[in-house]
Amino acid sequence: MSTIQKVAIVTGAARGIGQAIARRFCRDGYAVVLADINSTELETAVAALRQEIADATCLPVELDVTSRPSVDRLVAATIAAFGRIDVLVSNAGIWKDLSRGPFWQIAPAEWQRTFSVNTEGAFNCAAAVAPQMIAQDCGRIIFIGSSSIGEALAHITQYTASKAALIGLMRCVAKELGKNNITANMVHPGQTDTGGFTREQLEQRAKSKFIQSVVTADDLTGIVAFLASPESRFITAQQINVDGGGVFN
Ligand code: NDP
Repeated sequence: MSTIQKVAIVTGAARGIGQAIARRFCRDGYAVVLADINSTELETAVAALRQEIADATCLPVELDVTSRPSVDRLVAATIAAFGRIDVLVSNAGIWKDLSRGPFWQIAPAEWQRTFSVNTEGAFNCAAAVAPQMIAQDCGRIIFIGSSSIGEALAHITQYTASKAALIGLMRCVAKELGKNNITANMVHPGQTDTGGFTREQLEQRAKSKFIQSVVTADDLTGIVAFLASPESRFITAQQINVDGGGVFN
């Protein structure tokens, strides 16, 4: 008897945390759709995965999460290729190039751009996969948030607020889709080494944590794998920080 291969979509999968999560799903035997706005890095990431994991089933799809038609094309491409969607990891986000400073100096256009990618982008993805998951009567939606919410990380308030809004989204998604055996949860990375911080900054922040070493992208993959698995079927509308300790929900 053949087992149906599970299908996971990971947004922002060309690099960093999304790439690590996509690699984990590939290793765990999922068919993985890697979606990202950066098509060049995306092709490189998929080529690397195929080289690393001989039997990897992975499909790169160029995606702009801020565009609902683009997200709809991602969902259509996934269903055309694999026939189902078991897991959505809504990971694409912006933070590296955001301005730092007092909240009253944040330019309205930057506030809107941040919410457009980090908040509306996650809404677009969850809304686009929901009909397919409802039809299947099962699914897992995992939002990548940020421990900046629990820390009340200031001087980048546009980012912290855009991620905090996802808590409300995640809870409502979980409530509306629970009767269809679909869970929605949120993983909050702490400051993670994905190229946006100097080694000194990372080590300095790690010193303020219970576990005083630097978080890597691979450290995020275990909880995501668990939340995607059948073992987590009664866990929904929950948040978990993967930050070395010191943040409380
Ligand atoms: P990276 O910037 O390394 O990777 C994010 C990926 O998402 C990039 O490939 C980026 O493309 C892509 N992306 C950006 N905008 C869009 C879009 N509109 N549509 C589709 N893809 C897009 O981020 P990280 O891996 O560091 O972070 C991943 C997630 O984790 C983010 O949501 C982030 O906010 C969150 N997080 C990260 C932390 C950290 O310390 N690293 C801490 C807490 C949370 P491009 O490079 O071209 O912009």
